[in-house]
Amino acid sequence: MGMFSFICPCCNKGIRAEGRIRNRVALHLIKDGEIVESLRGSYDGYGRTEESEWSLDWGDVCDIMFEENEKSGIMAFHEECEPDVLPEIKYESEHDPSQGFMEEDEESRHKRSLNPDTLEWGERV
Ligand SMILES: [Zn+2]
Repeated sequence: MGMFSFICPCCNKGIRAEGRIRNRVALHLIKDGEIVESLRGSYDGYGRTEESEWSLDWGDVCDIMFEENEKSGIMAFHEECEPDVLPEIKYESEHDPSQGFMEEDEESRHKRSLNPDTLEWGERV
């Protein structure tokens, strides 16, 4: 029902927004691989943080998220997982089928993960 949940590409775990559990996140809105805007704070479960909203119109944010382009959308990290330097190649984070309600879901283990040391994207294992 309109919730947006993401898998952190560094630890391959879902970003949680479940009751009072609100993971600290770094959200980067990307379009064609370029950062449009970034937010930091506690994840609200709806593609924003509790502290701040996108300055971009929400409808425009949704349009970017629903683009059929894996380099457009939200690249979301747990704040503690975010690498000091962002990868040059940026991909949207995969959606978490458990919608942020579970720490990890076997079925959610699919394709993309980021090595925070080398900033190389690779397959999940
Ligand atoms: Zn993480």
